[in-house]
Amino acid sequence: MENEFRRLPGVDTVISDERIARLAARYPYDLLVNLVREQLEKARELISSGNPCPSLDDIVQSVSTQLDRLENPALRPVINATGVVIHTNLGRAPMSKETITAMDTISRDYSNLEFDLLTGKRGSRYVHIEDLLCRLSGAEAGMVVNNNASAVLLALSAIAKRKEVIVSRGEAVEIGGSFRIPDVMRQSGAKLVEVGTTNRTYIDDFRDAITPSTAALMRVHSSNFQVIGFTHTVTLEEMTVLGRQVDLPVMDDLGSGCFLDTSEYGLAPEPMVQQSISAGVGLACFSGDKLLGGPQAGIIVGKKKLIDKLKKHPLARAVRTDKTRIAGLAATLLHYLRGEAVEKIPVWRMIAASPDEIASRAIAWAEAFGKQAEVIDGESMVGGGSLPGSTLPTRLVAIGRNGSISASGVRVLSRKLRNSKEIPVIGRINEDVLLLDPRSVLLEEDEIMINILRTVGADL
Ligand SMILES: *Cc1c(COP(=O)(O)O)cnc(C)c1O
Repeated sequence: MENEFRRLPGVDTVISDERIARLAARYPYDLLVNLVREQLEKARELISSGNPCPSLDDIVQSVSTQLDRLENPALRPVINATGVVIHTNLGRAPMSKETITAMDTISRDYSNLEFDLLTGKRGSRYVHIEDLLCRLSGAEAGMVVNNNASAVLLALSAIAKRKEVIVSRGEAVEIGGSFRIPDVMRQSGAKLVEVGTTNRTYIDDFRDAITPSTAALMRVHSSNFQVIGFTHTVTLEEMTVLGRQVDLPVMDDLGSGCFLDTSEYGLAPEPMVQQSISAGVGLACFSGDKLLGGPQAGIIVGKKKLIDKLKKHPLARAVRTDKTRIAGLAATLLHYLRGEAVEKIPVWRMIAASPDEIASRAIAWAEAFGKQAEVIDGESMVGGGSLPGSTLPTRLVAIGRNGSISASGVRVLSRKLRNSKEIPVIGRINEDVLLLDPRSVLLEEDEIMINILRTVGADL
């Protein structure tokens, strides 16, 4: 072992290797020295555990691998062929061209983010989007924060701290990613009062639970599960009628939030923002990057008196959103205002795509791959905490059916697609068959998809 340690080159030797010296033209010297030291330290650990000393070549190679890793952004685009249109792990909604341009434009320069061009005085970042939100939802006022989780937290903190909020037991749920209504409630300082049972809640359960400490009645959309069978839920209208009688606001966590009627696309009806407002809720909260199809955001619309309270709350600063996302969200909302959302917003284009349109893409993909690929019927999901249990008929490229590729071969194939150099392709494996759904893949990615499938298929 002592011999092996003696063979280990010094920092200076590695640094003066011509391959590292070449890198010195592009990187600060200190960075290279640190990387070399780290690799030598690793080599010492290897030797200590009984391995031979790595060669100078190995050490130089590992330094440049480390640099490559730093240089190539870890976060990068992927092709989502899972068929889940709003895939939280894959970054939710891809955005419209107009949205991307708006975000790009506002990033380049200074902006009137918090500056009133009329008076030359300090302005509010909320004004740029409030009119659009009010126009689309019918609400008196609106604001935007970081995401819907922070919207709910802010709303509860501002209107219900040290007070009680009544929620149906069936809605005191976990939305995923450790967002649990009881936990958020605790964090906000509000006291959760659960009423009814898991499967049945009536408006009288709410009425009976009201005390002088009650601050709000809350509805949470069951965005990622269904309760079926012997069930009864309280309608939003029943809640707002009761709220008016006792002068308490109704707070509605819509989850996805939606301005279009999903039932027109063969899906279950997702509650719409306009419906909440016309039912008379005090506040409705929803996401920017679920069915809305825009950048990450938490949108709050409702009564002016309540929204004003939220805007002034100290937490609003902590959960505020930045200029690029305000610009992007405004561009996305404009698509709805102009009635062009389905043509312009990628997630809606995907939802509205017909099985025939998808079939012709699937056929081209399957042909590119080769004879182990077939086109079969299947189902796509909207996902992302919306429309649980509701699917869209689609056509899938199925690779390796009837044992044409072994189970381990299918896994290797799926890994190859995931590690594809140009752009990773993410599919899903079901019963040892690799499934690729064109619905969730952008049209403009078909060409690259076909190239990748041709290469991987030819390799088989
Ligand atoms: C998704 C969801 C949230 C969280 O929204 P984010 O925008 O991801 O923060 C909160 N409530 C419900 C009901 C949801 O579906």
